[in-house]
Amino acid sequence: MAAKVKLARRICEVQPSATLAVDAKAKALQAQGVDIVGYGVGEPDFDTPAHIVNAGAAAMKSGDTKYAAKRGPELKRLIVEKLKRENNLEYRPEDVIVSNGGKQSLYNLCQVLIDDGDEVIIVAPYWVSYLEQVRLAGGKPVILNTTEATAFKIAPRQLEQAITPKTKLFIHNSPSNPTGSVYTPDEIRAIAAVIEKAGICALSDEIYEHLIYGDIKFLSMASISPRLKELVVTVNGASKTFSMTGWRIGWAAGPTDIVKAALKFQSHATSDPAAFCQAGAAEAYASLRLSAEAVTSMRAQFDQRRKLMHARLNKLKGVTCLEPLGAFYCFPNISGVFGRQFGGVTVKTPMDFCGVALEQAKVALVPGEAFGSAQHVRLSYATSTELINKGLDRLEQLLNG
Ligand code: PMP
Repeated sequence: MAAKVKLARRICEVQPSATLAVDAKAKALQAQGVDIVGYGVGEPDFDTPAHIVNAGAAAMKSGDTKYAAKRGPELKRLIVEKLKRENNLEYRPEDVIVSNGGKQSLYNLCQVLIDDGDEVIIVAPYWVSYLEQVRLAGGKPVILNTTEATAFKIAPRQLEQAITPKTKLFIHNSPSNPTGSVYTPDEIRAIAAVIEKAGICALSDEIYEHLIYGDIKFLSMASISPRLKELVVTVNGASKTFSMTGWRIGWAAGPTDIVKAALKFQSHATSDPAAFCQAGAAEAYASLRLSAEAVTSMRAQFDQRRKLMHARLNKLKGVTCLEPLGAFYCFPNISGVFGRQFGGVTVKTPMDFCGVALEQAKVALVPGEAFGSAQHVRLSYATSTELINKGLDRLEQLLNG
């Protein structure tokens, strides 16, 4: 038999996305006819608002199906206006890159900023892809751990102490996936002061900007001072705000030379996102009233689901859940379940817990290991009230029964 083709070291060292892995396992069971309640994937369950869909469809019908060079300037101009209006940030269209999702913007930025051995500071629990994107670029992730005691937020001193001469980048994400934590403006200012003093670069992932519940005001890190505008790249996108995950429109804005390098990188990887998807996103940013109504309505529904899921999780034996203040995830601590047996399986880790939940309660959760936690699991509440109740009934039966 011929030898198998050897894969590059680069990819062998990367972990597949655990979120997608859980989803695949749940879907496989569903395909066999098993009724699974899935809390795995982080995407809104709402339809994309009609005015956006119509704009995308109209663009496609009118022949906007070619390479998107023509579309690019319009969407970038609208993003520039959005940054001015909502984030107090002034950029020019050439300081903006539009990518196939915020994920690609972040990937590009890692590729153009990180050299072999550069240290990148990441706050744990973190979004899965930060770690692997940094590794794929040859960087060394430096993890700052947080717990419920600080609402999963770092103190400025923690960041200060982690900075070395090799530090290239800090990745900031508020509201956070997976913890749902939100930094207050003062907390962001304090973190930003450390970045400014050290002169390191930061990526501020603001993709959940519009999903904050309660009264914390959103603040863009780059807007704090002119120096920070030279150090911070802001990443955002249409996926979460406008329920447009499948359209794959994300973007970043920052110092011209960094964005120019990211554009060069993307030009050899994928070029611009699809023209009609850009037309849909342009409509989302242009039709202020319709979009604001849609976002307000989705946020209100997320908020109700958040309260329901959070309250019900805290009634489970061995489970405690901090109230998430943003995004659409609950991140309960399940370490109180460790040592218990379910159908002959002893739960010792979040991974064990998710296995038991899927197989014995038919509920799909994401294990904390994927986010750098040995004590938590993640549940997305971007699903209906009915499904939240159905899955929580099952977990209640498993844990409290
Ligand atoms: N950042 C965070 C924190 C996310 O949770 C996600 C989506 N899961 C993204 C970025 C990327 O989203 P998209 O590629 O759909 O824009």
